[in-house]
Formats: sequence, C-alpha cells, structure tokens
Amino acid sequence: LDWGHERLRRRVQDGIREVRFMLNGQLAKLRKELSEKRPSASEIDGRLEGLAESVNEIIRLVGVEGEALAEAGGAADWRRRRLSRLQTELVNRIVKLQNPQQCQSAKKLICNLNKGCGFGCQAHHVLYCMTLAYATGRTFVLDSVNWRYSRGGWTSVFEPLSKTCTERGSAGAKQWGSTGAEDAQLVEVPIIDAMAHKPPYLPQAIPADLYEELSGLHGNPFVWFAGVLLNYIMRPNAAFQRQLDDNAIRLGFAKPIVGVQVRRTDKIGSEAAFHDISEYMVWVEEFYKTYELRHGRPDKMRVLLATDDANLLNEAARRYPAYTFLSDTSSSRSASVRDRYSDGGLRGVISDVLLLSKTDYLVCTFSSQVCRLAYELMQVGRDDSSDRFHSLDDVYYFGGQLPLEVTARFAHKSRDSSELDLSPGDVIGLAGNHWDGYSLGQSRRLGRNGLFPAYKTELVVRKAEMRPGL
Ligand code: GDP
Repeated sequence: LDWGHERLRRRVQDGIREVRFMLNGQLAKLRKELSEKRPSASEIDGRLEGLAESVNEIIRLVGVEGEALAEAGGAADWRRRRLSRLQTELVNRIVKLQNPQQCQSAKKLICNLNKGCGFGCQAHHVLYCMTLAYATGRTFVLDSVNWRYSRGGWTSVFEPLSKTCTERGSAGAKQWGSTGAEDAQLVEVPIIDAMAHKPPYLPQAIPADLYEELSGLHGNPFVWFAGVLLNYIMRPNAAFQRQLDDNAIRLGFAKPIVGVQVRRTDKIGSEAAFHDISEYMVWVEEFYKTYELRHGRPDKMRVLLATDDANLLNEAARRYPAYTFLSDTSSSRSASVRDRYSDGGLRGVISDVLLLSKTDYLVCTFSSQVCRLAYELMQVGRDDSSDRFHSLDDVYYFGGQLPLEVTARFAHKSRDSSELDLSPGDVIGLAGNHWDGYSLGQSRRLGRNGLFPAYKTELVVRKAEMRPGL
C-alpha cells in the first residue's frame, strides 16, 4: 500500500474543504460589514484582493497535490507507456499504408501542399490529407513542387512521407467526392474548407478502434491523434535535425521552461486581437509559483519566446528581468511578413514549433496555427499533457472541423437572458470559452445561443470508423 498516495488524497480533500470555508466565511463577513458600516470602495477592494489571494493560494496547493496524486504509484509512467504503445501501433499502420508492396497499382490520395497560407496552416492541411488517406486505406502522396517556402519542396527539410511510393504516377486522378472517385486508383483532395459533403472521419474525430483506450488515457484524444500523425509527417531530415540540435544548444534550451508564442504582424486586427506581453506572463508566473511549491526554486525561470514581432524580446527582457528569455531572433525577424516565405523563414518557424512542443507549459493564442501545431506535437511521448497550456483567446480547434460540441453533465438554470438553461445530456455547439468560468455556445435542444458554466459540461469526443485496410 502506498501511504504517500493516501496522504495526498487527504490533502486534496482538506484543501477543497478549506476553499469552501475561506470563500463562504470571508464573503459572509464582508456582506455583514457592507450592511452594517458601509466600508469605502478601496476597503472593499482590499478585502476582495486578500480573499482572492488566499483562495488562489489554496487552489495552487491543491493543484500541486492533485498533480502528485496523478503521478503517485507510477501512474504517470503507466499512462505514458500505454500511450506510447498506442503510438507505435498507429505509426506502424501508417508506415505500412505509406509503403505498399505495389506502388504502381496502389490506391493513392493526392494532396497539393500549396494552400495559400502559412506553415502551420499548411502542416494542418497535410495532416487532414493524411487522416483522409488513413480513413480510406489509401497511400498518401504529397505534391510540393513550387512550395512558397522552399524551392526544394517538402523534403528540403523533412523525410519523405514514404520510402517506396512518393510519385503519383501518370494515370488521371478523380476529384474527391466526384462519381466513381471511391474506386478510382488516384483521388485528388481539395482543401478542407472547400469540401462539400464532410465525411464523419474529419477532425476532430479519432479512429473508433482507439476510442476506448485513448479516451481513458488522455484528456483530449484528438489532439494526441493529431500530434502522433504530425510527428510522423514532420520528421526532420538528418541535415536539418543537426541544425535543430545546434540551435537548441545555442539557445540554452533546458528544463524547466515555459513556451510563449506571441503572434502579431498580419494577424492583428484581421484574425486576432493584440495582447500585451504581460497577459502571457501572468500564466508564466503562475507556472513557476506552482513549480516552486512542488520542486523548489528552479536554477533559472526560462521562457522560450517564439514570435513574429522582432522587437518583443527586448521589451520582454526589460520588463521581466527575473526571467531568462530564450529566443531565436533570426527566426522572429524572418517571420515578419516580408521575409516569411523563404528557406530561413521555413526553418525558423519549424524550429520554433518543435521547441515550443518540448516545453513544460505553453502560453499563446490558439487563434494561431503555429501554437496549435506546437500543442498537438506536445502530446507525443509524454503522459497526458492536454492541460499544459493556456490560450488567451480561442479554445483548441481544427480549421474546417466537424462541429465542436460539449455535453451537459449537470442541469443549470439560467440567471439572466444571456445564459442558457442546461439539462443533463444536452448537446451544445461550442463557440468559445471566455476563460472566466463561462463558455459560449448553441444549445441544440433550445436552438439558442448563450453562456453557460463550463464546469457543468464536458467535451464530446467524436469517433469514426477509419479503415487503413491493413
Ligand atoms: P497563423 O497565421 O498564426 O494561424 O499561422 P500560419 O502558420 O498559418 O501562418 C503564420 C506564419 O507566420 C508562420 O507559418 C510563420 O511563417 C510566421 N510566424 C508566425 N508566428 C511565428 C513564430 O512565432 N515564429 C516563427 N519563426 N514564425 C512565425
């Protein structure tokens, strides 16, 4: 019997009880004072600040103890080993599909890399094609000539997607969804946004045969599935790998480290809002406070800063002298809109994404595909890391995905017209999370949009039959 486990369990339960006492007791006291002697606004403010500090402190401690509990008795290693076995199984299937015995006659799915967008968006396009190939049992052939990032195409930086079968062949291809396409030898796939009838195996669905085990082991099974596929798709070739390793050493990459990605330039105002560095640093500070409670003071408080704003590193280092910022400045310069689509720009963004994926915690805006890519890759080779992030804006999503839904675990009575009523089992199309306890969505039952407490719901994990035909 592991008594450490029992001690942790009691501490978590005690902590939750103390939060209740602290919150209810101090609020009751404040309300009494408000009705009796009308304290000034600044007095009230001071009291609320003190209360918030105490409650946050207890929650932080419970979080640390909960984390230790999740790892007690070798549970973390056990999860990591089982996830790693699933990964091996999935990758073996892909390798087999990608290397058919008869390449000439193999059924193929062809995608063109030239989606008119950045690397993160293109990598997601490749992932979507790989998923379709996997689901329909076809060998995936990627056409990357005239790639906007590099004349050498995909293999200028990555291993080819197959050792034996990378040519589409000379036969004519059918368009995905056209008559006879299902049986055609070659099928060409449009970008996900242009797909007319969406099949059930599109993101964020996971293969039905992995569903049971994966949804038990991982907090966001699709993100894990995406990460494993991307990890196969984005295998740096030997020369590029050496460059990446040198780069990591030069930057001084070591743990503990928090990854911060700040997406600015062309994204601001069109697809996302501006966020000051302080908004990201709140979460970095929280990470290190928690870290210290568990492991003691770190040798350095490292922050890996990836950004397309070439001036940000100076500002961050000046305003946050307690932190050690690691940032590839040549990468942020070549990430500017003018120099982006170049060999240097390509290597820079891949290096940033891979380093971000190896950090302990990620702070960014999920409106950026760069950060979503890093978050997906972060899941590979670890214990469940689905909660190791904070997004300042969107929830995790996949562009062009099937509707993202949550389901109500508990009933909720709306408090005003901005809120939704919930009945257990209700399905709600998720539009976003305000990260203040409330999410926004559309109740399928009521046909109405509104806010609802996020804690009363859970994510619906989609599953679909995918037949790699092996
Ligand atoms: P999104 O526009 O942020 O959703 O992501 P995309 O990847 O589709 O396009 C943005 C492109 O800008 C990237 O692919 C890079 O070329 C560049 N970029 C944006 N943010 C960064 C960053 O943090 N580091 C680097 N090196 N490049 C970036």
